[in-house]
Amino acid sequence: MTTTRLIPPTDRLERTRAFMAERVLPVEPVLNREDHEADALVAVLRDEVRALGLWAPHVPPEAGGTGTGFLDYAFLNEHIGRSIWGQLVFGCQAPDAGNAEILHLFGTAEQKARWLAPLVAGEVRSFFSMTEPDVPGSDPTTLRCRAVRDGGDWVIDGHKWFSSGADGAGFGIVMAVTDPEAPPHERATQIIVPAGTPGLEVVRPIPVLGHAGRGWSTHCEVRYTGVRVPVENTLGEAGAGFAIAQKRLGPGRIHHVMRWLGQMQRAFELMCTYALEREAFGTRLADKQTVQNWIADSYAEIQACRLTTLDAAHKIDGGDEARVEISAIKFTAARVLHDVIDRAIQVHGARGLTDETPLGGMLLQARGARIYDGPDEVHRMVVARRILRSFERGDGWRFD
Ligand SMILES: Cc1cc2nc3c(=O)[nH]c(=O)nc-3n(C[C@H](O)[C@H](O)[C@H](O)COP(=O)(O)OP(=O)(O)OC[C@H]3O[C@@H](n4cnc5c(N)ncnc54)[C@H](O)[C@@H]3O)c2cc1C
Repeated sequence: MTTTRLIPPTDRLERTRAFMAERVLPVEPVLNREDHEADALVAVLRDEVRALGLWAPHVPPEAGGTGTGFLDYAFLNEHIGRSIWGQLVFGCQAPDAGNAEILHLFGTAEQKARWLAPLVAGEVRSFFSMTEPDVPGSDPTTLRCRAVRDGGDWVIDGHKWFSSGADGAGFGIVMAVTDPEAPPHERATQIIVPAGTPGLEVVRPIPVLGHAGRGWSTHCEVRYTGVRVPVENTLGEAGAGFAIAQKRLGPGRIHHVMRWLGQMQRAFELMCTYALEREAFGTRLADKQTVQNWIADSYAEIQACRLTTLDAAHKIDGGDEARVEISAIKFTAARVLHDVIDRAIQVHGARGLTDETPLGGMLLQARGARIYDGPDEVHRMVVARRILRSFERGDGWRFD
């Protein structure tokens, strides 16, 4: 049995909280403009985070970061996640964080020197290119992008989309079918493709809910036409693409959830504060039972997500893949994230939809949570299948 001890990294946590509250949240309106002034400000804030010894908390010092495990990272992310810019400022933004983890776990010494070190240092960005427009991303055994060996090279042809951050990235990791005859989960390989390789075309940032983004915040359509890279750019073994993706996506999902906890708590605080200030029909909104129900439900749901996330993080630190826990928290937290922000907007009335609060932007971001890194329905399927398999074996299911 795993014993969960919910002990936060007190000193680092306080410094992270203070930095987010004093340096990041007040300048969010500037960062949201995504212009040159915003870029310059991000660079300043990143230097301050480095000077504080808080940089890249997702990977351990041997990979260039300051990480001390998933549980500590979960606590830190409750604060980093309060603003969507927190992850960029702390050098742990998706998809670079996940790419850094797989390069750390599976990269050769040369790949680590060439790709991992500058990535973790924040000198370059990267993208992860798996989803394709013409086949279901939920079932990546249907991928069509192909990589064929030609002498000492891979030659890659394919069409991807939703490659987040591809605009301006230094390199990408592409998932391509290398052996179509192999069993479904051994057909694909992950290959590193440097930006500027002939045939690699970042076609366009795809506007998502009206937001095209810029650089890190884009989700791009990418075409690979006869893209030639040396076989030394293979990440792990040929055919190990799915195994490595699993290593990447599991932690990646819980990283998202940790940040959503910060978003939920911020929306919750805004809801409670405004409910105490605003009066209608002679009493404060806080005195209406409907609003009290929203606050009570939000508290209970956020705390349930929080404790489940900390439990999963602790299990991962103990060497457990925590597949059921991660899938369960992914679809549950995605819904709670949306519901809490939505209630906070309702309490604010029309003001909740304006730029006077961050809630509108938070709601737009929250909608994607039910789709990226696996839609809710697929995670429910994973949870149910794994639990039922355990019952079929006669083991039942233990909640500890
Ligand atoms: C903001 C954002 C960022 C993203 N970033 C990246 C990235 O960086 N790299 C990358 O490769 N991809 C990325 N994606 C793509 C994402 O991972 C896929 O969208 C996701 O895996 C779902 O694939 P799909 O969109 O093709 O939907 P499909 O697989 O076509 O599924 C469509 C719908 O079918 C339903 N469905 C599917 N399977 C089942 C089932 N078994 N049971 C019941 N219903 C089911 C679900 O409701 C699902 O939403 C991103 C997506 C978003 C929205």
